[in-house]
Amino acid sequence: MPPKLVYYVRVWGRNARPTQDMGMSPQENTMNYATIKYCDIANGEGVRTSLFVSGCRRHCPNCFNAVAWDFGYGAPFTKEIRNEILESLAPGYINGLSLLGGEPFLLNMKPQYFPMVYTLINIWRNFGWGSILYLSSMASIDTALYEAASLDGANRWHKMWHITLPSIKPTIVVMLIMGVGGMLNADSDMILLLYSPATYEYADVIGTYLYRYGLVGGNFSYGTAVGLFISLINFGLMFLANKVSRRVADYSLW
Ligand code: SF4
Repeated sequence: MPPKLVYYVRVWGRNARPTQDMGMSPQENTMNYATIKYCDIANGEGVRTSLFVSGCRRHCPNCFNAVAWDFGYGAPFTKEIRNEILESLAPGYINGLSLLGGEPFLLNMKPQYFPMVYTLINIWRNFGWGSILYLSSMASIDTALYEAASLDGANRWHKMWHITLPSIKPTIVVMLIMGVGGMLNADSDMILLLYSPATYEYADVIGTYLYRYGLVGGNFSYGTAVGLFISLINFGLMFLANKVSRRVADYSLW
């Protein structure tokens, strides 16, 4: 494999190994490119092929190419386009391939890392709110209970299991019921800010799909119907969680 092709595979290597059969993975098919310049002398040494990939998160003031900030701008990078580029590299006077734009090394641009990035961001985002809630709930526990438990020989684990957790049970149950009620929404607003065509396959949830298909695609009636259906399912789940909590923990919202 000539060096210029190795470079190409390494940069866009969502499949880490070089592709022998010119086939493309589903992830590669989701990348968009803005333009391709053949016999380009402005972007690198000698005469080259230049591929301008869509997407930029830097948003510099006075950017010359703001239209290409959107990762969905341009056309899909297909197997045919890739083969076209490889063919353009064959003549001896072509010095190599220049890749410009895009952000292939950002973690949230790699589909397989998206669930991890999403989970970490969610933990970080909810950590403060959860801490305030549970700490304020724990602050209301009578300290005499801990002192009495210490006199009886209880260690930290015993105190946590027999005093702290039962005392904050109402807060835990309320949070659980609210969480179950919003489960299908899955923070679609945050995913909308994070995802791109390259990560649709892993990042899409019902909310983001509805936004794209219903709102952006103009299918308002379909979007409204599915949204209503999702709200009904959410209500059903919340109702079920409330019932289970009443049975298991002897505490419920209503
Ligand atoms: S395309 Fe270049 S100039 Fe424009 S925002 Fe991105 S890095 Fe800045």
